[in-house]
Amino acid sequence: MQKVYAHPDIGMVHLAKNALANHGIAAIIKGEHLASVAGGGSAWNEAWVELWVADDAQAQEAARIIDEATLPDGATDDAPWTCPSCGETVEAQFAVCWNCGHEQPEASA
Ligand SMILES: [Zn+2]
Repeated sequence: MQKVYAHPDIGMVHLAKNALANHGIAAIIKGEHLASVAGGGSAWNEAWVELWVADDAQAQEAARIIDEATLPDGATDDAPWTCPSCGETVEAQFAVCWNCGHEQPEASA
């Protein structure tokens, strides 16, 4: 067992776990229940959700896969997108338009 990733946002940890699953690497999430009840006075880092791989030999590859999954090289991923429905500019982290609710179109890249 080896920890390969930790993030305070459970969604990011699930993203990383799914990326590993796509590569056939089994991973285990730890601390998920702790994060869900955070706010009970625990230190900030104790609320971080951790991702562990069962096989230490896969840890290095797992870390690389997670890097690619969570830190895309393409700078365009951070670029705001323009809603095709209403023309509003929407920040990259939102998957739907804040103005009209239209879903972000598939990236052309
Ligand atoms: Zn819109």
